[in-house]
Amino acid sequence: MLHSLISKLISSTRSLLAPNADSCLVCYGPRASSSGELSLCRVCFEHIPWIRPDDIRCDVCGRFESCPDCRRRKDTWFELNLSVVKYNDTMKDWLGRFKYRGDERLQLLFAGMFESLFHRFLAHQAWRAKDITVVTYVPLSKQRLEERGFNQAELFARALGSSFRIPVAPLLDRARHTGKQSYKTREERISDLRGVFAPNEEGISWLSTTVHNKPSQLVVVVDDVYTTGSTMNECARIIRECAPNSRVFSLTWAR
Ligand SMILES: [Zn+2]
Ligand SMILES: [Zn+2]
Repeated sequence: MLHSLISKLISSTRSLLAPNADSCLVCYGPRASSSGELSLCRVCFEHIPWIRPDDIRCDVCGRFESCPDCRRRKDTWFELNLSVVKYNDTMKDWLGRFKYRGDERLQLLFAGMFESLFHRFLAHQAWRAKDITVVTYVPLSKQRLEERGFNQAELFARALGSSFRIPVAPLLDRARHTGKQSYKTREERISDLRGVFAPNEEGISWLSTTVHNKPSQLVVVVDDVYTTGSTMNECARIIRECAPNSRVFSLTWAR
């Protein structure tokens, strides 16, 4: 009697401290069966503004509205960007909870969403996971990495690498951090990026010596948010200049 009471108490305390696996990753409510692998309740799941293939208006950056950025860009070094969701206020809140407030549970959610995007990417290119040479990520500056303790893009890349058994390697370093990009004009963003990224010597030399079953090395660069594409384009430019035999694709969580 006492024993069962105690074990009941322990289990209810435990569920208060660590919500069970069936609770929604965002609001801790009961999980819906329809949310698939994502561990969300029905309300949170329905809040996700997915970008569906039919929404896409720009074949380069996957934008869901007419796209001046890709048309104006002189050289585009990546072949394609695909994103999971539209970056609305709810998605800003989810990402902020993870990036700035350290809500680690959400990492599972982002990993699951990236996984579904990767399946879509492979289907779109008619490739299998083993065709991809490497998954890499947009780096943070040392200072930013020390402040935050982790690079969200790297975590997403590593999750993809382990679910699809693809090597993950840093191909880029970031010399300094740029201020908040969203407040800047297009020209400011582009000139701001000069000299920000540099090749990661070790990663690049590994890539250059990797022999793969495709005529070119297929490189997937992961980031959290795609805005105008200037950051991704700069990253892709460096990779392609260092490894001219590579083809670069961008996968981002939101845009
Ligand atoms: Zn929920
Ligand atoms: Zn575009």
